[in-house]
Amino acid sequence: MVNKKTAPLVRAAFERYARGDQRLDDIAEFLFQNGIKTHGIRNRTTGKKSAGGKKWTADRVKNMFNDIFYYGDFKYAGEIYAGKQPAIIDKLLFDKVQRTLADRGRVHKPKSEPLPFNRLVRCGNCGCFVTGSHKVRQQKNGNVHHWVYYRCSHNKKSVPCREPELRDYDLAEQLVTVLRSFTMPCKWGDFFLSRLADNELVTKNDTDLLVARHSGELDEVNAKIKRLFDAYLDGDIDQDSYRERRADLLSNKKSLEAKIERVLVGADFWVEPMRNWVKNAVSLCEIGFDSQHADIASAFRKIDGSNLFLQNKKIAAAGGSKSHFPFPNTAAASGAAEKNSWQALCAANANTALSGGKIPKDPDLVHHHSRSLHTTQARR
Ligand SMILES: [Zn+2]
Repeated sequence: MVNKKTAPLVRAAFERYARGDQRLDDIAEFLFQNGIKTHGIRNRTTGKKSAGGKKWTADRVKNMFNDIFYYGDFKYAGEIYAGKQPAIIDKLLFDKVQRTLADRGRVHKPKSEPLPFNRLVRCGNCGCFVTGSHKVRQQKNGNVHHWVYYRCSHNKKSVPCREPELRDYDLAEQLVTVLRSFTMPCKWGDFFLSRLADNELVTKNDTDLLVARHSGELDEVNAKIKRLFDAYLDGDIDQDSYRERRADLLSNKKSLEAKIERVLVGADFWVEPMRNWVKNAVSLCEIGFDSQHADIASAFRKIDGSNLFLQNKKIAAAGGSKSHFPFPNTAAASGAAEKNSWQALCAANANTALSGGKIPKDPDLVHHHSRSLHTTQARR
C-alpha cells in the first residue's frame, strides 16, 4: 500500500489532479513513470498469475482519489473512523480533488481552435458575445488573402443588431489601449512586494483570531458528535441516519482541523497568493501594441472584472468602475496613490483570508477608491 517512498508520489498525484489540467489517465502515466504499477493477479481457476507491471487504469486512479484513507480516516463496517496512521494529504486537498473529479465528470464539448478574442467582448447593442471568423479570398491574379474579423454573434435574434464587423488588429489595438488605462504602473510592483514582506511580520493577530474562530467551530462540531451519539444510545435515531450524520460531522471536523493546521503552519498562507496577484498585475503592464493577440486576450482574462463592450466599432470597459486597477498609468504615480492602493489591496485580501477563501484575481479595489480617484482621472 503506501509507504515512505510512495507517499510523496501519492501526494504529488493529488496535487497534480487538483490543478484541474490533467486527466485521470495523465495521473496514471505520472505514477507509472515513477514506478507505481499494477500488481499481478492470480487467476482463481487456472492458478496462473498475470504479469502486472502495467499502467493503472483511470478507474484505479479515481478509486485512489476517493479513498479517505489518504487524509487519515478509514472506513470500517460502513462507518468512518479517525485513523491512527499519519495523513498523506490534508483534507482540504482531498476536498479539492473531489471537486475536480465532479467537474471533470461532466461532458466537455470537443473544441475547435478558437480565436483569441472570442467571448471577451460583448456587443454594445444586443449584449451577445463578439466572435471571430477567418476569411479567405483568392484574387484574379492568384494572390490569396487571409484575414480575421470579429463581429457580434447575434444569438439573441429577438433584439435587432447591426453592429458592424471589426478587423482583428483594430480590435487588438483598442484592447491594449483599454488595458493600459487601468493596469498598475510597473514600478508599483516593487513597492507592493516590499510591503508584503513587512506584512508577513504583523499577521500574528489575524492568525490568533482565525484559530480562535475555527477552534470555536470545532468545539461545536465535537459537541454535536457527542449529542448525536447520545441520541443514538437513547434510541432516538436509527443506525443508518446515525452513521450518515456522523460521517458528515467527521468530515466537517477534519476540514476544520486541517484549516487550523494550515493557519498555524503557514500563518501567512494568504501572502503567497497575494504575491502572485501582484506579479500577475505587473505582468499586465508588459502587454503592448506589438504583443501577440493571444497574450492580449489572456491579460484580459486575468482580470475578473473587465467588462468590455463593442459599439460602433469602438471598445469600452463598461462603467469604468469594473477596472482592474482604477489608476491611470500616467497621473497616479505618486507615493500617496501607491500607499492608498496598498491599503485597499490588504483590506480586500485580509477579508478573503479571514473568510478562509482564496484571493480573488481582482481584489475589489474599486469600491475603496473610486471616489478619491475620480479627481485623478479627470486630470488625465
Ligand atoms: Zn449585437
